[in-house]
Amino acid sequence: MKPFVYDYSLEEWQQWMKDNGEQAFRGGQVFDWLYVKRVSSFEEMSNLSKGLREKLAAQFEFVTLREIDRYQSKDGTVKFLFELQDKNAIETVIMKHNYGNSVCVTTQVGCRIGCTFCASTLGGLKRDLRPGEIVAQIVKSQQLLDATEERVSSIVVMGIGEPFENYEATMKFLRLMTHEKGLNIGQRHITVSTSGIVPAIYKFTEEDTQINLAISIHAPNDTLRSKLMPVNRRYPLADLLDACRHYTEKSGRRLTFEYALMGGVNDKAEHAEELASVLKTIPLSHVNLIPVNFVQERNYVRTTRDDIFNFQRILERNKINATIRREQGGDIAAACGQLRAKHMESSQR
Ligand code: SF4
Repeated sequence: MKPFVYDYSLEEWQQWMKDNGEQAFRGGQVFDWLYVKRVSSFEEMSNLSKGLREKLAAQFEFVTLREIDRYQSKDGTVKFLFELQDKNAIETVIMKHNYGNSVCVTTQVGCRIGCTFCASTLGGLKRDLRPGEIVAQIVKSQQLLDATEERVSSIVVMGIGEPFENYEATMKFLRLMTHEKGLNIGQRHITVSTSGIVPAIYKFTEEDTQINLAISIHAPNDTLRSKLMPVNRRYPLADLLDACRHYTEKSGRRLTFEYALMGGVNDKAEHAEELASVLKTIPLSHVNLIPVNFVQERNYVRTTRDDIFNFQRILERNKINATIRREQGGDIAAACGQLRAKHMESSQR
């Protein structure tokens, strides 16, 4: 299979030019057309010779994603359903905030982590995305925002898949997004979320970036966490928390813990007290409370408003900073994996 245009770093483009008898700066020109001018074909790269454009077109795949559906929520959230070259489908979401546009990207086709509250894992893992397939989600989002002269101001790697199980592609994507000659998105405006793949947390700490890390914790003890997230049997809480402590001590950066509240499962006062005592041992921790979306195939119900606020109060009383995530795109099934699951169902009919 040919490489995608978005698979290559600037240095790889420069090398490709040299290997093909061209001057290295031509690589920079291609990079500029892709990420600054954001064209959709080699033909539009008017400062390259016709011969070079033809050679590029013969060796690279430009069309990485095909939009098969787009849903627009009343609150401005846009959800794309994209088809990949092999006909698999993935989701990408643009969320409007008062501070700008944030895009949530997918890193795998499906997921093998098996969190019981998540629609993305229902069909298991099909395959990892290539770097260019992750990058193209941002380029497509930016192309849509170009029409209103807006920009992608932040990225959350929280869509379908476990990014640390597709580690190298995710890291390449992050380097491409933050490249100063490309989209130049600030590292501090990017968050990678993991279900708790402990060796990868240590590896990520060594990358020494300013990129934010979020850990999906969702339960304050091993018994409950293993029920909700089978990954906890592989990497139990004590190991996960050691890795988190190492990360905050080494990086000096705040660490966010995602906690999806599920009615009657993990949302009671005793869970909040237990979570506070666990997180007290991690400096700079912050909890993001997420009222869980209803997933048809699962039986979870939403936590009541009173219980959400009570949970937050208990954490804060214990000096753990906690925020409640604003729900977005509720009217367009924007929760992770829901559109893809529907698409898979209808294409099987
Ligand atoms: S929540 Fe994330 S890690 Fe867990 S199954 Fe869903 S996509 Fe995978």
